[in-house]
Amino acid sequence: MRVPSIAIKNVTRRYGEESKSFWAVRGITLDVYPGEVTVLMGPSGSGKTTLLSMLGGVLAPTSGSIGVCGTRLDRCDEDACQRFRRSKIGFIFQNFNLLSSLTALENIAIALSLRGADSASAEAALDSVGLASKAGSYPHELSGGQRQRVGIARALAGDPPVLLADEPTAALDAAQGRRVMQLLRQRTQERGTTVIVVTHDPRVREFSDRVIEMEDGRITKIVRRVRPEQAGRQALWTVSRSGNVVAEVGGI
Ligand code: ADP
Ligand code: MG
Repeated sequence: MRVPSIAIKNVTRRYGEESKSFWAVRGITLDVYPGEVTVLMGPSGSGKTTLLSMLGGVLAPTSGSIGVCGTRLDRCDEDACQRFRRSKIGFIFQNFNLLSSLTALENIAIALSLRGADSASAEAALDSVGLASKAGSYPHELSGGQRQRVGIARALAGDPPVLLADEPTAALDAAQGRRVMQLLRQRTQERGTTVIVVTHDPRVREFSDRVIEMEDGRITKIVRRVRPEQAGRQALWTVSRSGNVVAEVGGI
């Protein structure tokens, strides 16, 4: 039996105090498996970033349980959450979040040293995204696509078991977006990494194993994509929230 790397049970998140509070996540139960790319889609304000932040140990749930790689995040204090983030999570941000006064290589090396990993592997990380020749370049000397690849190299450096990406292709053109998703897909397959991508971009579906749709803080639909190399032919199924197949979408 497959063991989920992420187990979310009845999770809610409220912002603000009693009278003016807003429930951004209203009861989510979901298992996520290693070696899979899971895409979270949904309109703006549906709670995607809130959910992703809880999975990364940045935001505590209001209720419910969240287990990621064996750590119960709903029971962690701030120190434990920080240790968890550094050892288990690679974050990829929409706006790259590179430090402008550091070179591409230094941006990665500093992330590695925060993780307690050998910063010498920064070069290999940069090479893995095809940017070895840009090691000494500062962010303002790189194109948007190159900056995003540095951001990805930083997230991949040290080989964290979970990669969380919030709108990673939003600032990129179609070709750059494809390359970014190919990279994430490749890493998932080679290392069994758990990848969750929040996106508005329908083109990202193609690189996923599962698409989860959210609305008003709830999951409304889960579509599992059986990849051609797995099935020998292409197929899509709609599955219910409990994970049972309820309707076939694509033909097999
Ligand atoms: P998405 O990423 O799907 O656009 P978010 O998770 O960012 O959605 O936000 C979900 C809802 O929670 C939105 O209505 C947003 O306005 C609200 N929200 C997000 N962050 C905060 C916050 N820090 N304080 C109050 N409300 C927030
Ligand atoms: Mg968001």
